[in-house]
Amino acid sequence: MAKRFSIFTYGCQMNRYDTETITGHLEREGYERSENFETADLILLNTCSIRERAEQKVFSQLGRLSRLKKEKPGLKIAVCGCFATREGEGIAKRQPAVDLVFGTQNIAELPRLLGRMTEGRVVDVAPVEPDFTEVAPIRREGDLSAWVSIARGCDNFCTFCVVPYTRGPEWSKPSPLIVEEVEKAVAEGFREVTLLGQNVNSYGRKTPGGLTFGGLLRRLVEVGGLLRVRFMTSHPKDCDLDMVAAMGECAKVCEHLHLPFQAGSDEVLRRMERGYTGEEYLAKVDLFRKHVPGGVLTSDVIVGFPGETDRDFEKTLEILHRARFDSIFMFKYSPRPGTPAAAMPGRVPEEAMAERFEEALRLQRRMTEDLHRELEGQVLEVMVEGAWEGASPCQGCQEDRGVAGFSGRSRGNHRVQFIVDGPAPRPGDLVDVKVLRGGLHALGGIWPPDSVLMEDSGP
Ligand code: SAM
Ligand code: SF4
Repeated sequence: MAKRFSIFTYGCQMNRYDTETITGHLEREGYERSENFETADLILLNTCSIRERAEQKVFSQLGRLSRLKKEKPGLKIAVCGCFATREGEGIAKRQPAVDLVFGTQNIAELPRLLGRMTEGRVVDVAPVEPDFTEVAPIRREGDLSAWVSIARGCDNFCTFCVVPYTRGPEWSKPSPLIVEEVEKAVAEGFREVTLLGQNVNSYGRKTPGGLTFGGLLRRLVEVGGLLRVRFMTSHPKDCDLDMVAAMGECAKVCEHLHLPFQAGSDEVLRRMERGYTGEEYLAKVDLFRKHVPGGVLTSDVIVGFPGETDRDFEKTLEILHRARFDSIFMFKYSPRPGTPAAAMPGRVPEEAMAERFEEALRLQRRMTEDLHRELEGQVLEVMVEGAWEGASPCQGCQEDRGVAGFSGRSRGNHRVQFIVDGPAPRPGDLVDVKVLRGGLHALGGIWPPDSVLMEDSGP
């Protein structure tokens, strides 16, 4: 009987992509995926190290797994991902039930590491150059939208961030390999790809003569059968005309830019070593808006970086006002061992950090609601994901008569729930939905846009 594995993923899209690659390698080795820890012979935890809380969760999960292992002695437990890379041997020392620890850069070696496990516990977190000779085996989640990593690692060393230490230096995947991976995903039925990298804008800069990121976008939109291209994350210092011009020109590239600004104060940005000032960031926003009319902007923000004063924080609020983000991911600063910021003076007390977090969140919610209300009456192209089971998005609208509901994503990455007047659309269809309600988390609408579903006027 085939061996079964179960994998639990913490953190970001990059980790979920890694999970898909790990799954691909394990299936190639004859393993079968099991959604249930109890029936698995091998359990993997793909960990994150971005903030302290993510790390704490790993040890509580490992505690539960060690109890399961007592009942099932043949069970093997593996820990991988950023936290595994950072802690290495330390994880196995603190939790003896762990059989295998491997790093973000050792995924391709997994078959060999599994073989070595017969001799005892294996720890391999040593940095290795990526093998870019073939498309890695990959078992994708979902069936419409595929992640495709275009680069590994990061060279930026923002002072708060562990990524350059856990994922190593930046390596751009050769463009023919990316094209091949996208073509394979399309052949499997995927209609949309999201290109992943810690800083997609610096794609190809270390390999002169190759494609730039804008060039890569232009090449990928030629792939037949592919309907949409998205990407993340962009770094403001490298966001340039090459990229925004390609976004503006290529109809398949969605008009959504995730451009983390992290903080508004020039002094905080300097200590973060982000490589731009608040005004320079806003100039990039203007560049995007000029070349991508109607484009949707989202961002990441950190509150409570060491030394951040009330005055500094006001500058963060100012950027929120001026940039008009559709939504943001907001984080309280979390000191990461070994990063320069962790040793900086001026730790912001938890209470002040929480107050700033709430204030920024309140402001952003108002801004999001305003922006979404402005979309009412507009027609947005939506990629259909499937039937919508929740409450009608149009509750209270004249059009709401308990008709079939569907959901999908706009080009700007809004979640859109809509009612349908006519035959049901299929997953993967692109439909033009008229927005009737702009809510905080989703837009409600109707398709086709010129439908008028009047109330029955009685017998
Ligand atoms: N490469 C991306 C960039 O430069 O924007 C982001 C990568 S990181 C996985 C995602 C987000 O986590 C960052 O944009 C930042 O806002 C947040 N983050 C990273 N380190 C953090 C820390 N030590 N404390 C709080 N938030 C952090
Ligand atoms: Fe971390 Fe900065 Fe690299 Fe993003 S660009 S991964 S925040 S070091």
